[in-house]
Formats: sequence, C-alpha cells, structure tokens
Amino acid sequence: MSDPTIIKPDRETKEDTKAGNYFIANYPPFSFWNEKDIPMVGSLLNSPKPGKAPLGLYYHVPFCRKRCHFCYFRVYTDKNSADVRRYLDATMQELETYAASSYLKGRKPKFVYFGGGTPSYLSAQQLTELTDRMKEIMPWDEAEEVTFECEPGTLTEKKVQAIRDFGVTRLSLGIENFSDHILETNGRAHRSGEVYRAFQWARDAGIQNINIDLIAGMLEETDDNWSDCIEKVIELNPDCVTIYQMEVPFNTTIYKSMKEEGKLSAPVADWPTKRRWVSEAYAKLEQNGYTITSTCTAVKNPEQTKFLYRDHLWGGADMVALGVASFGHLGGIHYQNITHFEEYCNTVESGDNLVRRALLTTEEERFIREFILQWKLGSVKPSYFLEKFGVDIESRYQAELAQWQDKGMVEKHSDAWVLSRDALLRVDSLLHQFFLPQHSDAKYV
Ligand code: SF4
Repeated sequence: MSDPTIIKPDRETKEDTKAGNYFIANYPPFSFWNEKDIPMVGSLLNSPKPGKAPLGLYYHVPFCRKRCHFCYFRVYTDKNSADVRRYLDATMQELETYAASSYLKGRKPKFVYFGGGTPSYLSAQQLTELTDRMKEIMPWDEAEEVTFECEPGTLTEKKVQAIRDFGVTRLSLGIENFSDHILETNGRAHRSGEVYRAFQWARDAGIQNINIDLIAGMLEETDDNWSDCIEKVIELNPDCVTIYQMEVPFNTTIYKSMKEEGKLSAPVADWPTKRRWVSEAYAKLEQNGYTITSTCTAVKNPEQTKFLYRDHLWGGADMVALGVASFGHLGGIHYQNITHFEEYCNTVESGDNLVRRALLTTEEERFIREFILQWKLGSVKPSYFLEKFGVDIESRYQAELAQWQDKGMVEKHSDAWVLSRDALLRVDSLLHQFFLPQHSDAKYV
C-alpha cells in the first residue's frame, strides 16, 4: 500500500464521506488497548471470586462467501471444510479454558451472540454440533436472548429450523438493500429473491424476533431506490429494522480504489444525504407503527422486541469473546483476540494466551463508556449514573448539556435527557467531546 499522505486533494466538502471509522462502538478507543495489560485478563480469570455482572457469550464466525466492498472485518472467503472444522474445535478449546476459570466457573450466559463474518455460512449440522458442545461446556439454559447473524443467500429452510432448534430467539438478516444492482455493485453475495425466501422461512419457523439490517448510502444508492427499499421493508414487516449509515474504513476495497484514483472523498452519498435517508425511513416506519429505539434501530413492539446483547453490553456486562479477532469485556478489562486465523488456531492448539491486546479500564473510563454508549439509545438518565457511578451528570456536564439545549439538540424530561431526532442521527459525531483529554484526538480503531 502506498502512503496515504500522497493522496491528492479533490473537490470535496466537509460533509463528504471520508475514509475512516465513524461509529463509536466502545470506549476508550481501540488504539489505547495494549500488550502491557494482556496479563490482567489471566489474573482476573484466576481470581478466587466469580464475577457478578450479567454474563454474555460472543461467538465469532470469520467466514463469508464473498468479501463486500465496504467490509472492514477480518473475514476469510477461501477456507475449506478442514479449516472450518479446525476453527470450530479451536473455539471449543477456548471456551473450555474460560469455563474452567474461577472467575467464570458456574456462571451461565444471560445472552449469546453469533456474529461475523457470517455465522450462517456454517452448515446446519456444523451449527447443531457446535452449539451442543457449547452448551455442554457452558450451559445456556438461562440465556434470555440468543442472536444469530445471517447472510440471506446462505440459508436453507432446514438450516433455519436447525437455528431455531438450538435456541435462537433473535435472527438478524443482513439484507442491506433490496436492489440486485446495488447489492452486486457493493460486492454482496446475496440477491433480493433470497431475502424473501429467508424471511419467510424464519417466520414459518416461529423465530420470535427477526431483525433486518439495511445500509443507507451504499455505492450507487439513489433517492428513488432508497424509498423503494423502505416500502419493501414495511411490506415485509420485520420485528426490528437496523439502519447503518455507510462508512468507508481504511481496510475496505472501496478505500483501495479511492487511493488508486487519488480521491479523498468516498464515492458514496455525503453525510447529510445519508442522514436524510435514515430520517425519511424513520418517519415512514413510525407512520407504520414502529418506534425508534436507538440511533440505528426501529422496532415494531418495544415492549416485546428487545436487544439484550446491546443493552447488557452498553450497561457494562461481562462478555466472553470466542474466536479470531473477537472483542470481549471481563471485570472492567477490554480485550481482543489474535487477529489472524492460522495464528489463532496454532495458539489455541499450543495452549498459549489468545489475547492480543487489552485495557484495564478505570472507574471513570467505565462511567464515560456507558455514558456515551447510552446516548446512542437516544437518552440518558441522571439517576442511573448517580446510583451506579456516584456521578451527577447534570453538574459534570452542565456546560455541554446547556449548549445542546440551546441548540435544540436535547430536551430535559422528568428523569432523562432526550436527544432530538436530528442529534440522534449524528450522535456518533457528538460524543468525542465527552472523551477524556488523553483520548480526544485518538485514532479510533
Ligand atoms: S457479509 Fe458482512 S462480514 Fe462478510 S464480507 Fe460482507 S460485510 Fe463483511
């Protein structure tokens, strides 16, 4: 790769989509996770007392049929069945080590999440065997939610039934767009016909919560096509709709092309257009009975349709992360596993430590983490932070809240500060002001 500083300036505006990560998924930023804190994870796991926070389990499947042009995850499209078998075995060995530790012994996950990559890339038989083994090692019978991400084109009716049978309560379909042209242009492996089939199988199987993911601002998106997508979503009537605004991180195929062409701005819609598209989508969804429950989600029935993985995680839960490059959080320590497939498998097989970087957070960092992540849900409650962290957010952030109030970005309700719709749609760009000074200019990844 050539030096990014040689990219020539282009006609551009501040609001163009530039390369880089925009969404805030955690705090402190990943660039502060380090090697020095790696031993902390082992010390915590060997500590005599088990942790008390709600426990979750994240299982990472790093395989995909094809690499999407906007994808920045480490995914593999060239692994054979022996590689997959080796990986599944390695992850179970990893889980055995966690389950035997004194910090986790006897604890049962309250939520389980299969993410990727593409969990539905695995066959029905592989999935059934895998989950049987997981349950033997760390029983899930107390899990209130089991989420499973799917790429529609990898599903069969039999596989959907197997997914239901091993306990999935929330099925998330990565639809992204309903136009076959846009799906193809963006390198997606599936087409819209597969979406309808997969959705119907999931409904027929009786899976209680079906989420669909969309991306506003994919390559070649237009006003007309976006409106058409939203009409189709409403006809489909899923329980939950998640809409991401397209970002173009550095390690994507789109960024590589930008560099080759000497462009600073990505060839996708600018941020105001993407926000307008999401805003229009939310207005239509609301007219059709949905409630907006975060910067990126609308749900049909907020009383029934929960997303416990997100809510527990953003509330400071423990989460064991299994698999290559996966991210976990235990007892206030963030960690990420080794990020290369071969190295991950070799390290598990030799019984060595899989953690590649970690961060022991301070109480203040844990408070800020929850504070900024909860803004993404659209509101924060002073009573929550006072009770949990002893922090009066109204006095600590008096100036910031007053400024937001003056600009009409936030309103004070009886027990919560509630973001306006406009602020909610650009919340990730507003949160850096709450970062501690040492993190404020940090590279986020
Ligand atoms: S399906 Fe998801 S994980 Fe796989 S390549 Fe596409 S964006 Fe990346």
